[in-house]
Amino acid sequence: MTTVLRLAIQKSGRLSEDSLQLIKECGIDYNKSDNKLTSKAFNFPIEFLFLRDDDIPGYVADGVADIGIVGENVFVEKAQPAEVVEKLGFSKCRLSIAVPKTFSYNGIKSLHGLSIATSYPNILASYLAENEVKAEIHEISGSVEIAPNIGLAEAICDLVSSGSTLISNGLKEADVVLQSQAILIANNNLNLEKKKILKDLIFRIKAVQQAKNKKYILLNFPNESQEKIISLLPGVKSPSIMPLASEGWSSLHSVVNENEFWEVIEKLKEAGAEGILVIPIEKIIL
Ligand code: ATP
Ligand code: ZN
Repeated sequence: MTTVLRLAIQKSGRLSEDSLQLIKECGIDYNKSDNKLTSKAFNFPIEFLFLRDDDIPGYVADGVADIGIVGENVFVEKAQPAEVVEKLGFSKCRLSIAVPKTFSYNGIKSLHGLSIATSYPNILASYLAENEVKAEIHEISGSVEIAPNIGLAEAICDLVSSGSTLISNGLKEADVVLQSQAILIANNNLNLEKKKILKDLIFRIKAVQQAKNKKYILLNFPNESQEKIISLLPGVKSPSIMPLASEGWSSLHSVVNENEFWEVIEKLKEAGAEGILVIPIEKIIL
């Protein structure tokens, strides 16, 4: 029997779509039917286990799954022995302390002697201990943001992304306890064959990630601007330049960083560039 790497993915929730999207971008094809708990890829030795996100660190630590995609928040909270292989750049959020908007908050010490509702008792307990604050932790599994309104706790510690849920519950973000994003974790004792498959998978993930913040750029320019234009575009290595059919003009191909992109475009136009095309890149192998 050929070796297959078992990847645990959240069955349905905020991580699911981006996790599967990443797998697809890695060129891995599979069939997902809604009610199946497992599924095998057609063109890569990988099998998916669809689980609740809370169970993923434990299953990976036990070896029921070989690797898993989970939020750092859940991984840190569960404190299961597994290796963090790669940060994946999606599902970014933070675990924060929030208090009613009328609460006058002057640092975490303001919570001394009060009660805090959270689904992350371990992370919160360590944070309070680090800051030498004694507070009562109320563990609840969902809808933490309503706790202050129903008199269950004076403050909360919960996941925040935009902050709109806090605002609509009359709360304000007071302190960030942990920054989080999706991560790829692996069992500590993978055999050599599984390690080899994981290495291939990481290679593909890196190629996808490297491409994400880059754009392929094509443009035409009058030959006399060549030096100026090249100086604006460092590119992956040196840009390709080809003569155009019209005398005195060339075309340039290069790769630019997404975040520098608008600034560069303006400068290129000033330097005489025309017909600028900016194209997404699927993968980059460096
Ligand atoms: P499950 O049913 O699998 O237990 P859940 O309800 O516990 O799911 P989700 O709400 O789907 O969990 O969130 C899964 C993960 O997505 C969180 O642990 C966190 O890492 C991330 N996440 C949570 N909220 C946000 C957000 N607002 N924006 C981006 N990522 C988030
Ligand atoms: Zn969960």
